[in-house]
Amino acid sequence: MSKTAIVTGGAGFIGSHLAEALVTAGQRVTVVDDLSSGSADRVPGEAELRVVDIVDAPALRAVFDEVEPDSVYHLAAQASVVASVADPGRDCDVNVRGTLNVLEAAKTAEAPVVFTSTGGALYGDAAPRPTPEDRIPAPLSPYGASKWAAEAYVRTWSLSSGIPDAVCRLGNVYGPGQSPHGEAGVVAIFSGHILEGRAPKLYGHGRPTRDYIYVGDVVDALLAACGKDGVYNIATGVETDVLTIWRRLSETAGVEIEPELADLRPGELEHSCLDITRARTELGWEPRVGIDEGLALTYRALAEELGRAQS
Ligand code: NAD
Repeated sequence: MSKTAIVTGGAGFIGSHLAEALVTAGQRVTVVDDLSSGSADRVPGEAELRVVDIVDAPALRAVFDEVEPDSVYHLAAQASVVASVADPGRDCDVNVRGTLNVLEAAKTAEAPVVFTSTGGALYGDAAPRPTPEDRIPAPLSPYGASKWAAEAYVRTWSLSSGIPDAVCRLGNVYGPGQSPHGEAGVVAIFSGHILEGRAPKLYGHGRPTRDYIYVGDVVDALLAACGKDGVYNIATGVETDVLTIWRRLSETAGVEIEPELADLRPGELEHSCLDITRARTELGWEPRVGIDEGLALTYRALAEELGRAQS
């Protein structure tokens, strides 16, 4: 009989790619999402969508009791640093209480959980780069703090239940399907600006660096982490500054637009790059898509999507 997976946040950017991969692998998939930033159109046709807020414990429990999942991928989150600064209470409700609700429901189902945390917002600016997992977190934003708190619950629940739960600390994920209209996700935002012929704002004057990882590689890592017990950085170990991302995308598109330079926003860090040795060794996982190939794939996918929308 085929396995059943619950993907929380499966109507979002990364979750929809994961749901697609699970369906392709022959699993039955239930997506749990409140559609606050995700969209029902993104959920693969073969997957079932349940519109539920993970903060609502009884509603969440009812879905888990019915579906009886073999595995749980917990991606639903308040995923914006800027929104977490504006409303830390809601960020805490969704990312901490919501995660606790998912863990409780998964425990009853005896299903292992894979939790997506953040590498970028957790370690802070003083950490050595590339940063290994055993570096004590020093988050700069409520989002980083809530993800760290949620991680602690994941690890504690794993210890008490004996069911292996994995924490995947993701770098800056990019790829087809990311919204060009969000306030995070520079690759999609820049691609959108190029396609609309508008100058982007480069916060931190284009100097901040991030560890950019292609969404397909993240999906592979999440699948490899299911049933593992540990904390894993999922990134590339390569850092790229924002100005370089803008220039490479502009070259791909064959345009020249002068960007606007601006100061960093509150809660944003200067530099981030993650050590992925542990994921390589313990998950047998390796990122496969380099930044140039990934940028080109992302730009072309968005251009096609916008072209379809306009025709
Ligand atoms: P996203 O916003 O596209 O997806 C999040 C999904 O969660 C959305 O579909 C949203 O509707 C849903 N959601 C939000 N609040 C919910 C709630 N209360 N109940 C049910 N569903 C809810 O974000 P994403 O980029 O796909 O991120 C997925 C996960 O990966 C998040 O946990 C995020 O924190 C983490 N992450 C992402 C990145 C990145 O670069 N994109 C980096 C590090 C970690």
